[in-house]
Amino acid sequence: MPFSDFHGNAETVLRIREMLARDRFPHGVILAGPAGSGKYTLATMVARAMNCLAQPLTDGLPDFCGKCSNCVRIAQLEDLESRCAEAIEARDALKETEKKETRLFIQTHPDVMVIPPDPPQMMIKVDQVRRVIDNIYFRPSDGRERVFIFSDSAFMKEAANSLLKVLEEPPDFATIFLITENAGELLPTIRSRCMVLTLRNLSLPEIESYLAKHRPEWRPAERALVARLSEGAVGRARNFDLAAYSATREHALVILKTALRTGEHSDLFKITETYRAGAEGREKLERLLRCLYSLLQDLLFLNANSVELVRNTDLVAELQRLAQAAEFEWLSSASDRLADVERGMRRNLLRSLSLDAFEAALERN
Ligand SMILES: [Zn+2]
Repeated sequence: MPFSDFHGNAETVLRIREMLARDRFPHGVILAGPAGSGKYTLATMVARAMNCLAQPLTDGLPDFCGKCSNCVRIAQLEDLESRCAEAIEARDALKETEKKETRLFIQTHPDVMVIPPDPPQMMIKVDQVRRVIDNIYFRPSDGRERVFIFSDSAFMKEAANSLLKVLEEPPDFATIFLITENAGELLPTIRSRCMVLTLRNLSLPEIESYLAKHRPEWRPAERALVARLSEGAVGRARNFDLAAYSATREHALVILKTALRTGEHSDLFKITETYRAGAEGREKLERLLRCLYSLLQDLLFLNANSVELVRNTDLVAELQRLAQAAEFEWLSSASDRLADVERGMRRNLLRSLSLDAFEAALERN
């Protein structure tokens, strides 16, 4: 899977490959951009291009083969969430005394290291940066370039100061990536020692064409829906759980229909009963609330004659019917009540109770 598999931000990718071709890739790079725009994926791709054993060119510029042992091992970093979960699990299995001194690192290739934010604070800690400093001056062993990817830029103060020291004098054979949604969060002294490359969100057609390639089993209408719901974030679109979303949306629609007096109470109770306490129940309820918000927003768009902004594109006809019964005052009080349910959830009120209360508060006499 070469650079052509990276979707969107073609100018930035081109610029990166031109710098690789001229052997002028900077030692410190800040990859900035919204969540899901592909920052981390792109960093791991550059790491592969730097270390690929086949060193292929496409359109005359450096690429990677995706098949050699370096490419394959570095590609194992791609599923960052699973790798982090494994690392956290391994640390949890340690003795209390060792646990305290163990920081998170992810490494599937000797020359490429990912430094994720360390729980529970979810910050990059000074011990993590020290380990990078201990490591960075060793020459590459299996590849040509040592790559360090900080997958988040929430640095503890001391950690940021240590990082600054490495950025002042990085070895020739090392590259440091700092990934952030907002480059402004980094110290100005760090920013000034790095090149800032910014990725933007993808347009709807770009996401749809990406999904046509990666989710061929989805119908075009489903791809259009996911493109809208993922709001330009290609990562979110790729991992979108359409089945779970559809099931949640069914529930949300029954709740809204019952409240608008176009549905049956018995259907509502069957649903709210399934929302239970506990961690799993909480997640399910959070999904439901997000979905209710997005449906309410779509109804607002329809009432404002802005059908082009509707996100649940496959439901427009049904939503049009609901919108006729839901005037602005009702919609705005529904959003307020929904916020009450969220507050109740934080105080751990019984889930089904607060959902039934939500519906009852919105019911018309
Ligand atoms: Zn390769």
